[in-house]
Amino acid sequence: MRFLWLRWRRVDGHAITCRQVVALVTAYLDGALTRDEHELFEAHLADCDGCTEHVQQIRATVALTGQIRDDDLEPQAREDLTNLYRRWLAESRA
Ligand SMILES: [Zn+2]
Repeated sequence: MRFLWLRWRRVDGHAITCRQVVALVTAYLDGALTRDEHELFEAHLADCDGCTEHVQQIRATVALTGQIRDDDLEPQAREDLTNLYRRWLAESRA
């Protein structure tokens, strides 16, 4: 539980949330984030398996299609991601 508490403490600070990671992922892969945003983004990834997986999925999509569009996410991938977040949230609240 101590680990989770520390994680929440970071969220209370200036760390970014999973929702923000999802919003910023295309900019991240596009190199469009500021240096501060980039650092916060990677700090979050280091601590969050759900978002790491999400970024890998987007990156794989980009590698296949050569472009970045949220629309390219398969519905199933989107659903898996939502489930991951729900599980993460549930565990964080436990
Ligand atoms: Zn996350």
